[in-house]
Amino acid sequence: MSAPPSRPNEVASVLERLGVKPVINACGTYSELGGSRLSPGVWAAMEEVNRHFVRVADLVEQAGQYIAGLLKVESALITPGASAGIMLATAASMAGTDGAKSEQLPDATGMKSEVLIQGGHRYMYDRQVTLAGAKLIQVGTSDGVDAEQFEAAISDRTAMVLHPAHLDRRPGALKLEVVSAICRSHGVPVLVDGAFMSYPPEAIANLLHRGGDLVCVSSKYFGGPNSGGFIVGRADLMAAVSNVHFTRYESSQYLKFGRPLKMDRQTIVAVVVAFEEWIHADPSVRFARFRRQVEMLRKDLEGIPGLKLTPMCFTKEETFEPEPVNCLAIDFNSSGPGMSAAEVAAALEAGSPPILAIRNGTRLAFAMTVLEDAEVSIIGKRLRELLA
Ligand SMILES: *Cc1c(COP(=O)(O)O)cnc(C)c1O
Repeated sequence: MSAPPSRPNEVASVLERLGVKPVINACGTYSELGGSRLSPGVWAAMEEVNRHFVRVADLVEQAGQYIAGLLKVESALITPGASAGIMLATAASMAGTDGAKSEQLPDATGMKSEVLIQGGHRYMYDRQVTLAGAKLIQVGTSDGVDAEQFEAAISDRTAMVLHPAHLDRRPGALKLEVVSAICRSHGVPVLVDGAFMSYPPEAIANLLHRGGDLVCVSSKYFGGPNSGGFIVGRADLMAAVSNVHFTRYESSQYLKFGRPLKMDRQTIVAVVVAFEEWIHADPSVRFARFRRQVEMLRKDLEGIPGLKLTPMCFTKEETFEPEPVNCLAIDFNSSGPGMSAAEVAAALEAGSPPILAIRNGTRLAFAMTVLEDAEVSIIGKRLRELLA
């Protein structure tokens, strides 16, 4: 008998076997780069639950209650992300707690099937409502809408309003309080996309206090899985979300709508533990790490002519603000170091390991959000080699 072939994982790491190069991510939390880095505590929870089987419906139910308890809100349910949350909340607003309707979706015959969004609120993720079978109706233009015009758009076909929290202060747009007061008088629920409103953690419940009926959150922004998140909100509406959620597909009377959005038990506990760690963490420790790493990189680059080095905050809206510092912005002067920002970015990306940075005109910025010290050192060394 010949010896079995050697197992490939004794030969090379999985990324090597797949031929995929790890990159140094100086951009921040992006789904396309893998989201966040899971902590040892989160990893341990996943490992623990991997050793046990559970009734997934019970785990989802208890995990939701646990998150609701942490946030002091009525009800919560884990979802595979905020995009999935938009799709599920839309389906819930159409089917309610009716099992037959959940099964019928995305065929919306006989159901309310319009979701309203303000013109100034159109954004990348609003299309998820259409996946549930709803029609997305834009009210007003990107310049704005007034309250009367918004109210006139509500009809007996209106299932829900989608309100992205990060666009709430957009000039010309109606604020959440105004939208929710109008919607309440017509019995229409408001879903707030609060995907990255997890800092400070009170911000999530605050969106409910300001008039949101449901809020969806993404766990990628609080150190959880890239495919995790949750919805919080009013208990009666959350019962409707349960009615379209993936659990009990095989055992309930109806084939529930959300089955393709199923989650692993490992991911479910990872969302819970990541959020628990996030809520209990002292944010000043995180901000101190960002400052220290920004200073490490700044020191490495000090004295290179033609560069202006500025500690800054790269926001989730992808703008630059002075505080709280989480990145080093490098502005290339006209007297430049002989290479443009674009050329340096291309060279960093072409190197090994590839380094991905934020490109913004003549500015190149390095966000510390998910970087370890060793990676910051590699960035400093590579930049010096290119520029000094
Ligand atoms: C990332 C993001 C989403 C999508 O969240 P996922 O959890 O990745 O599905 C939705 N809305 C906003 C504002 C986001 O930033």
